[in-house]
Amino acid sequence: MDFDLFVIGGGSGGVRCARIASGHGARVGVAEERFWGGTCVNVGCVPKKLLVQAGEYGAWADDAAGFGWTIKKGPHDWGKLIAAKDKEIDRLNGIYRRLLANAGVEIFDARATLIDAHTLDVGGKRITAETIVIATGGHPERPAIPGAALGIISDDTFYLPVMPKTIAIVGSGFIAVEFAGIFQALGAEVHLIYRQPLPLRGFDQDLREGLAEALTAQGVILHPSCSPESVAANGDGRILTFGGGQTLAVDTVFFATGRRPMTERMGLENAGVTVSPSGAVIVDQNLRTATPNIYAIGDVTDRINLTPFAIAEGHALADTLYGKNPRSASLDNVPAAVFSTPPIGTVGLTEEQAAARGPVDVYVAKFTPMRHTLSGRARKTMMKLVVDQATQRVLGAHMLGEDAPELIQGIAIAVVMGATKADFDRTIGIHPTAAEEFVTMRTRTRVSGVAQAAE
Ligand code: NDP
Repeated sequence: MDFDLFVIGGGSGGVRCARIASGHGARVGVAEERFWGGTCVNVGCVPKKLLVQAGEYGAWADDAAGFGWTIKKGPHDWGKLIAAKDKEIDRLNGIYRRLLANAGVEIFDARATLIDAHTLDVGGKRITAETIVIATGGHPERPAIPGAALGIISDDTFYLPVMPKTIAIVGSGFIAVEFAGIFQALGAEVHLIYRQPLPLRGFDQDLREGLAEALTAQGVILHPSCSPESVAANGDGRILTFGGGQTLAVDTVFFATGRRPMTERMGLENAGVTVSPSGAVIVDQNLRTATPNIYAIGDVTDRINLTPFAIAEGHALADTLYGKNPRSASLDNVPAAVFSTPPIGTVGLTEEQAAARGPVDVYVAKFTPMRHTLSGRARKTMMKLVVDQATQRVLGAHMLGEDAPELIQGIAIAVVMGATKADFDRTIGIHPTAAEEFVTMRTRTRVSGVAQAAE
């Protein structure tokens, strides 16, 4: 065999797996056909957050007047922002490549496909490996409607030559609500078209309601309970038909309608690797596919599609296979953030999930953050704890508001450790912060779940 381990895909999960395996002494190769660092570094988390921050500066410039500053805000230069972002992403690409090279991993800038369970075609070259890890991630998907190709996808947003003045964003998942905030903050008229009554299906109801209010307060025009029907060209612009024949003329239609695992034309069938109807590689709890020497990690398995989770899986798999340390990443209590405006941080169960298991005490706090008492910006913060009534363990912590992702990371440690409401209560707050609210929520807002009817 040419390699002990061959990793297909140089994204966050694949790179971590390759590096750690090499560190444990395995002979490792990794192939990437597009860009090192994958979605997160190139067309996802990292550039997205830079765009979010670009929007925040505009809002801060407006807010400063309430604190006595006179700031004249000029127009935003999209081209300058994208050029600065591109430079930073180039730097990160280089770091990812160097990390692999320094770890002694052999790098292939090529597409890899499976010929059989131990043989790959890597850019026209035959390579054999004892073990193979599929870490190819996913790609954005447009809905199957007429004219869908006239709409952009998230990959395109990072390279738009000009910022659209009007944009219709279809969907209300992570990507849709994050970009609604970005484009609105940078000066566009933003329409959000989604088929649920509230954005972010699957998130806690209070967060969803709070986000809908926040988007409206920010000026995003919401079109709930509407599905897209077709897109047509209108000169350089687009006409979106949606929600039973309504039309909207905009510069750009952006489909943020989900992602699909990258498993097409990879020769998976040659190696006996099976996929689900949605194209996800099927794995067992040890990340093993239907073929015993082939594993899959990260978004390509379509379970928890978050970069840090793919990294945790890649690391655990390398430790298991080559580090004499069998372990796995837990699917429970994985914290997540949505970089909406303001952002969301969340860990553990939603009220609805927890209540389905048994009675829960729910604590909710809503307030205007201190900064906005002077800035005058209509922006609220919402924090919520979901507590198991029997054990008093905190099952879920949710926040919508400035710095929510930063704050929930710390709260997540407590939740993972099994902290109780009493543990939160005996922790002294840091004053004046928004975070202290998490340890000063004394009065239960409501009881939810099975016992609710009995009370
Ligand atoms: P999501 O799965 O989060 O959301 C997809 C959205 O598209 C939903 O609102 C869904 O509606 C809607 N949708 C799907 N198909 C159609 C259709 N045919 N017509 C109309 N609407 C449709 O996907 P995203 O693309 O936003 O993000 C993909 C994943 O990437 C996320 O789930 C997340 O795991 C990850 N991600 C994480 C981020 C972070 O950590 N901050 C940021 C960005 C992405 P409905 O709810 O009705 O199904």
